[in-house]
Amino acid sequence: VSENTPSKPTARTGSPAAENTRKGAHAAGSAARNNAGAIARSKVIKSDPWMDSYAARADNMRASEIRALFSVASRPDVVSLAGGMPYLEYMPFDELSDLIAKMMRDKGDVAWQYGSAQGDPHLREDVLQIMALEGIKDVQPDDVVISNGSQNALDLITRIMCDPGDVVIAEAPNYVGALGVFQSFQVEVVNAATDENGLIPESFEETIIAANKAGKKVKFLYTVPNFHNPAGVTMSVERRPRILEIARRHHVLVVEDNPYGLLGFDGQTYPALRSMDAENVVYLSSFSKIIAPGMRIAWMVAPTGIRKKLILANEASILCPPNMSQMTITTYLDNFDWKQQISQYRGMYKERCDTMDAALREFLPYCSWNKPKGGFYIWLQIPEGLNSKEMLPRAITAKVAYVAGTGFYLDGRGTHHMRLSFCYPTPENIRIGIERLASVMNNELRT
Ligand code: PMP
Repeated sequence: VSENTPSKPTARTGSPAAENTRKGAHAAGSAARNNAGAIARSKVIKSDPWMDSYAARADNMRASEIRALFSVASRPDVVSLAGGMPYLEYMPFDELSDLIAKMMRDKGDVAWQYGSAQGDPHLREDVLQIMALEGIKDVQPDDVVISNGSQNALDLITRIMCDPGDVVIAEAPNYVGALGVFQSFQVEVVNAATDENGLIPESFEETIIAANKAGKKVKFLYTVPNFHNPAGVTMSVERRPRILEIARRHHVLVVEDNPYGLLGFDGQTYPALRSMDAENVVYLSSFSKIIAPGMRIAWMVAPTGIRKKLILANEASILCPPNMSQMTITTYLDNFDWKQQISQYRGMYKERCDTMDAALREFLPYCSWNKPKGGFYIWLQIPEGLNSKEMLPRAITAKVAYVAGTGFYLDGRGTHHMRLSFCYPTPENIRIGIERLASVMNNELRT
C-alpha cells in the first residue's frame, strides 16, 4: 500500500517556487544538490536515469490511491469498499455478443477503421435522448463531441483552457481523477466550500473574488452536481441558477461533470446546469456508470468556440474515439431497453446503499455521514482520534478496503474521512465489510 501514498502536496503548481526547483535541478551543479529537495531527488535518480529529463508537469503527477489499491482490494478474501466499479452482472451479454458479432460481419470495415475526431454521428444522435432526461433539449448532434471516457474529456477541457498557474475552482473533497488532470497541467486547484446541498454559492463567489484579487486567472468551476464522487451530495435545485448567475457575472466557465445523474435511487433526475445555460457550461457525461466503463466512451457538449477547440484537441490527443466501442454502444442502445436497464441498476444500487447505511448505523454509530440519494459513494467521517490513511494497512489485514479521504484533497486534509463505495460488493459482503471496518476502528480507539 505504501506506493499508494501520494507524493507530498507539491508547491503550488506553476508557482515560481516550483519553477525554480526544476530550473535548479536542470542547472545541475553541486549547489542545487545542497538543498534537501535535491538530495531527495538524487536518491531517486539512482533508480530512474531520466529523472532530470521530465517536464515540470510530470513533477505534479501522483499515483492514484484508488488505482494502487486495486490489486490488494481485488483479492477475493478482501471486501472492497474502495473502487467505483459499476456492477455489470445484469447486462444482457449473451444477446449483446450475438448483435456485436452481426455488427462485425456487416460493418467490420467501419468498426475497425479510423473515425471522426468529433465522434460517430449515430452515437452523437443517440446521446441526445439521454441528455433530454435531464432537461437538455436544445442540442443537435453537431454540438456533441465524443471522448475516451470523461477522464479524457477532463484532460481535453483543461488542455484547451488552462495555462500553468491558472486557477480551477472545485468542490472539496474532489474527484481524484480530476485532481490528477489539473495537477498534470500545473493548474492551481482552489476549493470552494460545500455542504449537504453541494457547492455553496456565496463561497464560490468569494473564491473567485479572492483569486482575482491575488492576480490569478480563474478559468473554470469544476463541479460534480449530482451524487458527488466522493462526497455523495447533490447540488440543490435552488442553488443551480445562483451558481450559474455568479459564474456568468464573473466570466467563469462551468464544467459540469455528470456521470451519475441518471442513478438517483428514486428515479428522480435534476435539471442539468447545461439545461439552464447553453453559453457558459461545458457538460460532460459518460457511459461508464450507466452501461460499461470498459468501452471508454463519454461525451461533451460545449458552446461553439470551445467545441471546435475540443475537436482539435481530441484529434491531437487520440486522433479519434474508437469506432469499435462507439458502435458497440449504439448497438446496445438501439436494441435494448436501456432505460429499463438503468432503472434496474438504480434499484440495485439503492438496495446496496440502504444496506451500507443500515450496517453503518449498527456497527459504527459513532461515525457520521449523509445518506446519498443516488450514485456509488458514502463519505464517512470518523472520530478525531482515528486517521483513515494510517489505519488502511490494518483494515486490509482485516480484509476490508476503503479509500482514505486524503486522496480527495491536495493539501493533506481528509485524514478523518474515508470513501466507502457500495456499487460493486453484494449486500451480504457490504455488511461483512462494515462489520470488519468497525472491528478495526474499535481496536484503534481502544489502543
Ligand atoms: N468524473 C467522475 C466524477 C467520476 O466519478 C469518474 C469515474 N469514476 C469519471 C469522471 C471518469 O469516468 P470515465 O470512466 O467516463 O472516464
